[in-house]
Amino acid sequence: MKKILILGSTGSIGVSSLDVVRNLKDEFTVTGLSANGNIDLLERQINEFGIKHVCVRNEEKAAALRQRTSPGVKVLSGDEGLLELAATLDYDILIGAMVGFSGLLPTIEAIKRGKRIALANKETLVAAGELVNGLVKKHGAEILPVDSEHSAIFQCLTGESAGEIKRMILTASGGPFFRCSREELQKVSIAQALAHPTWKMGSKITIDSATLMNKGLEVIEAHWLFDVPADKIDVVIHPQSVIHSMVEFTDGSVKAQLSKPDMKLPIQYALTYPERRPADFVENNFMLMNNLTFHQPDKTLFECLQIAFDVLEEGGTSACIANAANEIAVEKFLNGQIGFMDIPNIIKSCLSGIPNHKAADLETIVETDRQTRILARELK
Ligand code: MG
Repeated sequence: MKKILILGSTGSIGVSSLDVVRNLKDEFTVTGLSANGNIDLLERQINEFGIKHVCVRNEEKAAALRQRTSPGVKVLSGDEGLLELAATLDYDILIGAMVGFSGLLPTIEAIKRGKRIALANKETLVAAGELVNGLVKKHGAEILPVDSEHSAIFQCLTGESAGEIKRMILTASGGPFFRCSREELQKVSIAQALAHPTWKMGSKITIDSATLMNKGLEVIEAHWLFDVPADKIDVVIHPQSVIHSMVEFTDGSVKAQLSKPDMKLPIQYALTYPERRPADFVENNFMLMNNLTFHQPDKTLFECLQIAFDVLEEGGTSACIANAANEIAVEKFLNGQIGFMDIPNIIKSCLSGIPNHKAADLETIVETDRQTRILARELK
């Protein structure tokens, strides 16, 4: 029986992960969970899966949950609680389903213990890819992608040699504003930006999908996961989200991974790899997939995608700066403080205002993230 710790169990990836575990309950058991503040759902998960160790990041919510659970359930709190859970709990696999930079430190704790990490928290690799990869090697840990695009590439690479890869092609749905003009983008509302055409996800990643920053973060994530340079990574808009990504080889052959979109597939593959298990999450009806289309992304209009390629070329802590600035810009957009087109401007201002450090250690990365957030909050 493999034991699993899920960080971010009440978000969309966390909920899908528990669906996968329900389907494979003879093989996997959950020993720990964490949530930001949705203690109603967390409590139901604790009861259903008989969980004894949890962490709630919000201190007040943690105290409220302690009142509601039996004394046998240990409720930790805050970022320290997350670190304690990752560093001390008995588990084999960490599912990193948290949102944003806050996933980095607990993921590093799991890496130091040589665990398998099923990684959905792309910001961990974006902000600290070089450092994380070094630690994975040193401690014999393993990072398997949960992001659907990277799971697709990972599956396409099975049995292939690195030297024979010509390029990786990440597919993007294009988000709700594909084909919009600059004038239309300037006045989009929060509700319009939150209405994603194909995937139902949390608000941060949904806004990132609308700006194409999500695809930009995925380009950087692909670089660190598969050791490919920026000029071998392409992005193609594919609004149907049936092809989850592709790899083209030096002889011109292209492998693609397809399915009706459902995050349970990549989650399950990251848990059972190198094997597969039967599941009936999706039914693939090709008669309903008869119109697969591909388009060029507009990197001048959707500037966040261009910024991601630029910071990948630049190296050092520039991706960490872009990530932190984006997290604050998205928060400000969701609070109605800035417009949709101000998001890339805040990222660019932070990139010119915060110094870039090459070969940064963890302390420098954490400090860069902190300083960037302060600057991004001050910017209009
Ligand atoms: Mg994705």
